[in-house]
Amino acid sequence: MDPAWKHTENYTAGRDGTAVDRIVIHYIVGTLAAADATFADPDSGVSAHYGIGEGALHQYVSEANTAWHAGDLAMNRRSIGIEHSADSDRSPSASTYEMSIDVCTRICREYGLDPQTQIIPHSSVVATACPGTVAIARIRDGVDSRLG
Ligand SMILES: [Zn+2]
Repeated sequence: MDPAWKHTENYTAGRDGTAVDRIVIHYIVGTLAAADATFADPDSGVSAHYGIGEGALHQYVSEANTAWHAGDLAMNRRSIGIEHSADSDRSPSASTYEMSIDVCTRICREYGLDPQTQIIPHSSVVATACPGTVAIARIRDGVDSRLG
């Protein structure tokens, strides 16, 4: 599925020469519409490259640019951030997982990433509850099986 572009001003042009070698997985703590609203607000100071939920795939920031999602500038420069519709008491839907596996498979193929070590939870970068109810292993294993 091609993503639908949504507006954000919260990013840095380019990556300061840094190669992409990580996908950072997040949960929204809300629906995709909540992510759209947060990223559209310049005062929020946050963004991600992609958001997935409610049967939709949104893109906010080009992969060539640095999104503000990991809370760590060096990690932002080297990574692609993906948000998932979920709450602390609501796991991502099967469709959200499927779309995430699709996007992550394409990215792993394009950048030559190992899903088991280079798809990482936000909580491995900074102290945070994110990605909450998102099962990283389900995404990693799904990508592994697609990559064959
Ligand atoms: Zn996060």
